[in-house]
Amino acid sequence: MQFSEPILRLAAEAEKNLAGRFVELDRLSFENTARVMDAFREHRVSDSLFGTSSGYGIGDRGRDVLDEIWADVMGAEAAFVRTSLVSGTHALTVGLFGLLRPGDILYSVAGKPYDTLEEVIGIAGDPGNGSLKDFGIFYRQTDLGADGRFRFAEIEKNLSEEPCVKVVFVQRSKGYLNRKTLSVAQIEELVKRVKAIRPDVYVVVDNCYGEFTETREPCAVGADLVIGSLIKNPGGGMAESGGYLAGSRRAVELAGYRLTSVGIGTEQGATLGQNKSLYKGLFYAPHTVVQALKTACLAAYVFEKLGYEVEPKWNEPRYDIIQTVQTASKEGLCAFCKGIQEGSPVDAFVTPEPWDMPGYTDQVVMAAGGFTQGSSIELSADGPIRPPYTAFFQGGLTYASGRIGILSAAQRLLEERGKSE
Ligand SMILES: *Cc1c(COP(=O)(O)O)cnc(C)c1O
Repeated sequence: MQFSEPILRLAAEAEKNLAGRFVELDRLSFENTARVMDAFREHRVSDSLFGTSSGYGIGDRGRDVLDEIWADVMGAEAAFVRTSLVSGTHALTVGLFGLLRPGDILYSVAGKPYDTLEEVIGIAGDPGNGSLKDFGIFYRQTDLGADGRFRFAEIEKNLSEEPCVKVVFVQRSKGYLNRKTLSVAQIEELVKRVKAIRPDVYVVVDNCYGEFTETREPCAVGADLVIGSLIKNPGGGMAESGGYLAGSRRAVELAGYRLTSVGIGTEQGATLGQNKSLYKGLFYAPHTVVQALKTACLAAYVFEKLGYEVEPKWNEPRYDIIQTVQTASKEGLCAFCKGIQEGSPVDAFVTPEPWDMPGYTDQVVMAAGGFTQGSSIELSADGPIRPPYTAFFQGGLTYASGRIGILSAAQRLLEERGKSE
């Protein structure tokens, strides 16, 4: 890969200014790695746990011990991690169906949940598909305030007036929305206020993209069920597939009943040789997340200096691994994605093209050159073809490779700008 002089100078300037930030991020990795390794030591991880199981998978020690380790690392009473959870959406579905019963209200207090959950809830899609709504579960929503914070007055009023609220739902990451990501401290305040009025409701957190970006996870501040995907942060780039749920013993038990069967829960399920990659993934995750955070900081600096709107800025706090850049034109967005793709280890020779993705109103362009299909702890980007042509991107298994992707995207974007000027 050949980068132009101005791009290389900009990278050097960025890294000089980011040096202090990178030291802080290394400390984050030290602390979270220590938490993971303490749990490994306490649970006596050894080679015998990396074996496989088939059939019912009863008594798979590797699986059971990994669940206990996850609970400890997350600051939860219990947890389960399964490669049979096909995605984050599936894990969230298992959690919500596990807790909610006909007549209950699911109350989202951080605005609209992630797109793929709309059909699960029944606010999109066809009636009769088996959404929560089809099962008589109602949905309410309160958006975040203009300052990006919880609207506590409205939330508290609704909680005291609606006895049927069973789940208070929070999405930690901004996902693909134009809002700020929530910190664990903000979620802590929410949990306190919710429980003060309604100690019986479950606080459920969509933790996708948030894991290991802080030194505590939402379970540690009282969330009842915290859910995420293994092909994002906590799989450390090693997990081939899967998801996790962690939280209070009862909430995790109910989710386990929904995963398999009532009465069986998490005690069955063959691991088919995947245990080792899940242990290894958890071991790597705190480190890998920091590689992705450094990559995002570099991008924020570089694209801001090139004159683009970015969120968050390079020196702002980060509570997830997502970075946005407003590329200002369709051609800019495509050039950006082309650069990311060229700077990837897999499929670097491919040019991403906008396409009509099912379920989306605008065309979408995506760059993904990872080892695991759809993995977004690996450097990946996408954006809807509509103003302001925002590229959402995240990941980078190593800073060295993430840096190549970012510089390549910057170079392609500059070339495109040169053409149109
Ligand atoms: C990725 C993500 C999900 C789940 O998406 P999958 O593609 O099904 O894994 C849910 N919520 C948020 C905020 C996400 O970023």
